[in-house]
Amino acid sequence: MQTKKITLLSGDGIGPEVSLEAEKLLKVIEGQFNYKFEITKKDFGGIAIDKYGIPLPEDTLNTCKNSDAVLLAAIGGPKYDNLPREKRPETGLLGLRAGLSAFANLRPVMVFDPLLDSSTIKKDVLASTDLIVVRELTGGLYFGNPKGIEVKHGEKVGFNTMVYSESEIKRIAKVAFEIARKRKKKVTSIDKANVLDVSQLWRETVTQVSKDYKDVNLEHMLVDNAAMQLIKNPKQFDVILAENLFGDILSDEGAMLTGSIGMLPSASMGDGAHPAIYEPVHGSAPDIAGKNLANPIAMLLSAAMMFKYSFSDEKVYNLILNSVKNILSQGYRTKDIHQESRDGVSPTKLIGTREMGDLICKELAVSKSKV
Ligand code: NAD
Repeated sequence: MQTKKITLLSGDGIGPEVSLEAEKLLKVIEGQFNYKFEITKKDFGGIAIDKYGIPLPEDTLNTCKNSDAVLLAAIGGPKYDNLPREKRPETGLLGLRAGLSAFANLRPVMVFDPLLDSSTIKKDVLASTDLIVVRELTGGLYFGNPKGIEVKHGEKVGFNTMVYSESEIKRIAKVAFEIARKRKKKVTSIDKANVLDVSQLWRETVTQVSKDYKDVNLEHMLVDNAAMQLIKNPKQFDVILAENLFGDILSDEGAMLTGSIGMLPSASMGDGAHPAIYEPVHGSAPDIAGKNLANPIAMLLSAAMMFKYSFSDEKVYNLILNSVKNILSQGYRTKDIHQESRDGVSPTKLIGTREMGDLICKELAVSKSKV
């Protein structure tokens, strides 16, 4: 029996709803596989601001550091938008990533066949798209100094700094090449080297790292072209390597290939000294919170990634993935991926967050019994 300590940060908005579905999934896995989960729930984000005045209490960060993995749903909401920056939920998120030295963010973009009609992009362009964005997470514009808003020459001036050292670029590039080695052996490195000095260093350094990975093809692509190519021909990509801001934007664009941001999981990890963080790419979706409308699949696939990357258990990872595919194949959809009825007959069956979670859990239990 393997005992795993998991810190669960449900957060705000739809966070608690999708977390509940992940808890159900872990219960099924505990009952069917050789695992015992010690789940500790901690306050993080808006809920922590409400209780303690700060988004990332020390106790929350310490509990995360002492676990085997962190499962995070989503944080934030309009209530916190006007707080000073250091007290906002997003600052807590940056603090959590920095506190766990989680410099690599993996965002797989898998287009499931049953959802080919859910995207706004043509089916034949999308079919078989399977790429992963490797985004640098603790550097670049989001962390660089100097930053701020100052009054200069009688008007306000806002500024941030995109800064990367060679060592930061090398360590994230290595993650991308290692992943590519186990996939289709292609890395597309994203930059804006025609304009930005920091991007020139990025390009040079990634090229240097590629010399240790002669079995992997490296191509460089300017970020504006990459945004276009992702929509034009997403199948050309295998591993997309990007700095923090470019990766943030391109992976949300990738979300729309899958049909909904509610489908996209992610993992954020460092060099193994601290636990990794598993979280859906979406935010707290305040517009649909508390209505049983949220798609829990991104959260469930994030939990699946935890088995693959933190517990080295590809079997459970694949079983969760297949359970999701099977339920989608049977036509079940939350509202974000549901197809509107044509001539009064809907091609898919509209269900809520809880029902989607229940069906996937049931499917997982059934598929385990077939293994
Ligand atoms: P969002 O991802 O919360 O929502 C964007 C749109 O996608 C909304 O229409 C929402 O209803 C929909 N959506 C998101 N997740 C969904 C799901 N699982 N199922 C169905 N529909 C879903 O982004 P936003 O509206 O820009 O931000 C809302 C709040 O979330 C803000 O406070 C923002 O700062 C925060 N945020 C948090 C994170 C995080 O916790 N990692 C990430 C992004 C945004």
